Amino acid sequence: MKRLLVVALALGLMLMLMPHPSQAQPSQQGFTVLLDPSGEIQQGRTALVRVVGGGVTQARATFLGRLVELHEMRPGEWIGFLAVNMDTSVGAYTLDLFVWVNNEATPTYMNQNITVLYGGFETQDIELSFGLEGLLDPQLNATNFDTIERANNRTTPERLFTTFQQPVAGPPISNFGGWRNYNNGTLTGRHTGSDFRAVTGTPVEAISDGRVVFTRYMPIHGNHVIIDHGWGILSGYSHLSEILVVPGQLVHKGDVIGLSGATGRVQGPHLHFEIAVNDNWVDAIQFLSLNIPS
Ligand SMILES: [Zn+2]
Repeated sequence: MKRLLVVALALGLMLMLMPHPSQAQPSQQGFTVLLDPSGEIQQGRTALVRVVGGGVTQARATFLGRLVELHEMRPGEWIGFLAVNMDTSVGAYTLDLFVWVNNEATPTYMNQNITVLYGGFETQDIELSFGLEGLLDPQLNATNFDTIERANNRTTPERLFTTFQQPVAGPPISNFGGWRNYNNGTLTGRHTGSDFRAVTGTPVEAISDGRVVFTRYMPIHGNHVIIDHGWGILSGYSHLSEILVVPGQLVHKGDVIGLSGATGRVQGPHLHFEIAVNDNWVDAIQFLSLNIPS
């Protein structure tokens, strides 16, 4: 126990002295830990933790009160996703990491301080037309979002994803996490995805390989598709005019899974695109920018 504590303190000090997010620190334990971004992360964003070492046989972390399994990308390389919920309070947190080497019974423990910063979210006032006011009913909203969250709450142990791409071209026109105020405060909510300009009928592509787990019309999301990419990563595509896949179907990156449209609670045609990681909606654009080893 004492030895474990000494190792933890020594490794903690090494991590504190780590000069650059993407730089590896040498380890006497036979593995290296890389955290990107390191030290600070904004609300609603995802960090990538990598443990690299030939003898590593298992790795897991705890962060923000939950267990995060690391997965073996290839022999000797383990990765995990640290998703910060957009509602996580700003402040200092600890990442605890447990790494088993050569099937030893006791893991090597190390930790690192991570500061969660304000997400810099925008505020939007939205005026829905008279015909859509029924979609501001709080109960209807709660049921809609609960259904989507339940579908997102899965961690498929199998890795299905390859590399990631955007579902349609172009920059987002509305960002993740924004506070939305509908019809002068009739309803307030958060934006769980990123919106892209897309005229009705624009092909919407799967962002990576995965399995379709949800295809349904929802009052808010409209025609909605969810793809499970494995390892706790799921992508969602909303307001589609047409759904072109069925639940259980395996899709490849770039496959057209539907056509954009204006179904559900919208002011006009666009694609609402969202990503959930370990059951947290995260900034999809930031997630796509992560340097995930392929
Ligand atoms: Zn949206």
